[in-house]
Amino acid sequence: MKKTLIIHTGGTISMKENPQGSVVETDAHPLSKMEALHSFPIEEVQLFHLPSPHITPEQMLQLTKFIQEKIETNLYNGIVITHGTDTLEETSYFIDLSIKSCIPIVFTGAMRSSNEIGSDGLYNLICAIRVASNPKASNRGVLIVMNDEIHTAQYVTKTATSNVSTFQSPQFGPVGIVTKQDIYFYQKTYQDEIISVSSLTKKVILLKAYAGMDNELLEYILSTNIEGIIIEALGQGNIPPTLVPTIKKLIKKGVTVLFVSRCYKGIVQPTYHYKGGGRALLEDGVIFANHLNGPKARLKLMLLLENDASQREIMTAFRD
Ligand code: ASP
Repeated sequence: MKKTLIIHTGGTISMKENPQGSVVETDAHPLSKMEALHSFPIEEVQLFHLPSPHITPEQMLQLTKFIQEKIETNLYNGIVITHGTDTLEETSYFIDLSIKSCIPIVFTGAMRSSNEIGSDGLYNLICAIRVASNPKASNRGVLIVMNDEIHTAQYVTKTATSNVSTFQSPQFGPVGIVTKQDIYFYQKTYQDEIISVSSLTKKVILLKAYAGMDNELLEYILSTNIEGIIIEALGQGNIPPTLVPTIKKLIKKGVTVLFVSRCYKGIVQPTYHYKGGGRALLEDGVIFANHLNGPKARLKLMLLLENDASQREIMTAFRD
């Protein structure tokens, strides 16, 4: 019988609360010794022991390579990755972009550490194992299982700082649910194209637009050696007019300038033709990134630039 591989990377799910009320790291994973976990055929490995704000794209790449090696052994029916919730949406999306897997890959985490009242860690982990070991979850891209819901790495985002129902897919909702009896999928899910990656050398940054923003920061960015910039633009993809001259200089310099929206629902589209409006900026060479939030668009652009994608290829990759 095949086992489910659990790869621990750290986060609240691997922490506990001390008598002073601080949530702290532990040496051994606190859930490993829980009896309920061992009624499932599992194998555990601790790849990292990091709070997720410490996770970098380099570690995401290391995780990609590790998962790929494990899939190739053909020993497992599915893979669960436990991860801190702060950057879970980024790591899971990176894995979704970089691995084509025929077995399910499922991320989970916890909002309350292992010894807190109402801790959700063990429960989420067991739900994640049930999803990862179920053939219904195959060929759907990377999934996130938290709080009885199944989400895709593409659309999920952390929406609340401490609530256990924090993971939501604001535009489309969960793709499935986990119940006592079974798991159910209510939406067809697909995996976007796979972007191969073996190293990470491109510098891509993320900036949020706001009312009255001046171009001081953008001018500084222009003087650095970045290759790409994601701007969380206003509404459908507009920015204050003060930024336009520097945006044009960045594009002229060869920097890829990509817009997502700072709204958490809807897509960006070039609609307005005033100064700073999306349609005018499209003519200047700004690329619009449909349906992704800023941190995810940044990872995708990093991988595309790593593959020397042309501006046209980048535009196509972000269109749908
Ligand atoms: N700060 C923690 C982390 O992301 C939060 C969590 O895991 O829920 O590592």
